[in-house]
Amino acid sequence: CLEIKGSTRLMAIIGDPIAQAKTPATINEIFSARGADIACVPLQVPAQELETIWAGLKRMPNLVGFGITLPHKQTALQLCDSLDPLVERVGAVNVVRRERDGSFRGYQFDGKGFVRGLQANNIEILHRDALIIGAGGAAVAIAFALAEAGAKSITISNRTTAKAQLIVDAVNADFGRTIARVGSPQPEPNELVINATSLGLNDDDALPLDPDLLRPGMTVAEVIAQPETTRLLSAAGARRVEVHSGIHMIRGQVGLIADHMCEIWD
Ligand code: NDP
Repeated sequence: CLEIKGSTRLMAIIGDPIAQAKTPATINEIFSARGADIACVPLQVPAQELETIWAGLKRMPNLVGFGITLPHKQTALQLCDSLDPLVERVGAVNVVRRERDGSFRGYQFDGKGFVRGLQANNIEILHRDALIIGAGGAAVAIAFALAEAGAKSITISNRTTAKAQLIVDAVNADFGRTIARVGSPQPEPNELVINATSLGLNDDDALPLDPDLLRPGMTVAEVIAQPETTRLLSAAGARRVEVHSGIHMIRGQVGLIADHMCEIWD
């Protein structure tokens, strides 16, 4: 377990509420396994206090940075000294790191964490068609990350079509070719199907697509991590479709975030 010493550096996870956060414990396990002298703690930061607390955190010389969760992912953009280009594309920041020059730079690992989670479970992405349902913060991050990871095509389907179109335009502009398009929630054979909506958080939520359209050869991946097996994953599993829980996206992100902090501060 993590040994706290006088020399131990601090990383915080800021959000409100924060008591439910599992990330600090998992990040500490990784720091500990690596022998990194960094400890991660949850900090409850109400929205109206963000600016004041942020300014205070920056003044602490032994703070290496912080992870950002709800409700600060968008508002934090304005408070960073600089932003990784991906943060601007996705419009949300989820990690802020103290750089070697002391400035605080914002990064985005949602999409990369999702891809890392798939890779850790040997789920194919390269040259594969993907269908993303949803067009919020998680969907945009995943769309960029799948394009980066070599997906053949990305279809985005959302209740509000205009939001799907915005992501499609942004991805195609960024990659300089037509990789993404707006479509319907009707998976093609062997497609990687991703629920990136918030449907599934509650037991009585509607399913994001008709499960009778699912066939073996497809993969259904979730962003929802709690419950670990959503109704969509149960329905897909019952149809002999490969399933992938949202928990892997969190694990993927946490690993990347720990690596990112250790890159400078270990
Ligand atoms: P947003 O609020 O940005 O987007 C929500 C999306 O869900 C939108 O596309 C919205 O459609 C859609 N949606 C919501 N309700 C309905 C409904 N009743 N019917 C159809 N579509 C609906 O949220 P985020 O993208 O930030 O997060 C989405 C989910 O991803 C959350 O549950 C979050 O917990 C999870 N998440 C998981 C992570 C992980 O590491 N596992 C990381 C980040 C997020 P519309 O645009 O039409 O409103």
